[in-house]
Amino acid sequence: DSVMVEITELKKIQEDQRISNERYRIVSEQSDSIIYEFNIQDKSIYYTSNYKKKFGYSPRTNNFPKSMIESDLIHPEDVERFITFYDEMTAGEKKYSESEFRIKNDQDEFIWLTVRASVIFDRNNCPIRIIGKMIDINDQKKRTQALQLKAEMDLHSGVYNKKTTEQLVEQYLMEGDEGLHNAMMIIDIDNFKLINDRFGHATGDQVISDVAYKLKEIMRSSDIIGRVGGDEFMIFIKSMSSEQAIFKKAKDICCMFKDIKIKAAPNYKVSGSVGISIYKKDGTTYHELYNKADLALYRSKNQGKDRFCFYNEKEDKRTFDCVESES
Ligand code: GH3
Ligand code: MG
Repeated sequence: DSVMVEITELKKIQEDQRISNERYRIVSEQSDSIIYEFNIQDKSIYYTSNYKKKFGYSPRTNNFPKSMIESDLIHPEDVERFITFYDEMTAGEKKYSESEFRIKNDQDEFIWLTVRASVIFDRNNCPIRIIGKMIDINDQKKRTQALQLKAEMDLHSGVYNKKTTEQLVEQYLMEGDEGLHNAMMIIDIDNFKLINDRFGHATGDQVISDVAYKLKEIMRSSDIIGRVGGDEFMIFIKSMSSEQAIFKKAKDICCMFKDIKIKAAPNYKVSGSVGISIYKKDGTTYHELYNKADLALYRSKNQGKDRFCFYNEKEDKRTFDCVESES
């Protein structure tokens, strides 16, 4: 009789367990987020099947979080924060916490997630389990990053502002691009004061944004374009196949000014001058390259404006205009 009671009890426990598992499965299927349960004692972790769906591989279930960190699944910049988060939760210092981390998928891309964690304590108030949820916030993050980038733009011309231009070039130079041709160009509108004086400040503003627009058209999206002064722009051209290709770009920029028209005076000829420095040959830092390009610009201005010229060690003083080709 008592055996029968025990069997009934056992069946009931099994049934409860089945319902509990089913509950997990249903909740999981109904959402995009991943639910996990971590056993603090044996360091095992269980995730709902959404983990595999999201990341494209089966999660490491043993030796958490070491196994995850050692397989480089957590973004290097997030590892320290992740460990602090883990330590605080397992020490039972907090009942609930949440944070944001990047976890790698099978395409080697990092996905931003919000990780929520609640601690379950035993009768002696020792933390035994952590239960929580991982929510994909990647798209949201990308959107805020895009907004941040917008704030770094020069609002008037839609290219980068001076500070961001400098940072982006420095970052690129740090990462290095050996073997290909990189160049810096400074472009300054000719007699811009005169445009302002003759046609008014608003027309001057229009010319600035027209120049920025045209520069964006000519350059590739990977090049860095910034407004670094009132009527001065800087372009960092990345990974060109040859110096000849850089020459051609400079010529395109010089010729582009022909298409900029002032409404009130359609025959007025807007022009610009360009100074160019070549990465490595003329300098390896932003400031070196900028100073050399600026010297080259000065030479273009001195030799009659509406032209471009390269800074170079040979002190070859030659400048080029829109119609010329390199000799
Ligand atoms: P150069 O050919 O030697 O470059 O002569 P420039 O007249 O263009 O002289 P410079 O480049 O030194 O002067 C730039 C002028 O641009 C000075 C300033 O009054 C004007 N400026 C600066 N920022 C703005 C702006 O946002 N809008 C307008 N309309 N004018 C600006
Ligand atoms: Mg000028």
